[in-house]
Amino acid sequence: MEWKKIIIEDVPAKICKQCGEQYFDGETTLRLEKIKKANIFPNEQPVQIPATIRDFKDLSEMENG
Ligand SMILES: [Zn+2]
Repeated sequence: MEWKKIIIEDVPAKICKQCGEQYFDGETTLRLEKIKKANIFPNEQPVQIPATIRDFKDLSEMENG
């Protein structure tokens, strides 16, 4: 199996009334796990996303350099 990133769209998020942060309830978290683990998923669409990669640790190199 090839490693790939999976984008899951339209996930219903809840908003904490105390701090305003988004979170997922138990059922949503469970469903996300199922979606991630499924080998075959209905209507899955391969996409190509233009992107560059920046490694977190390389900031220090830039600051020294
Ligand atoms: Zn909170």
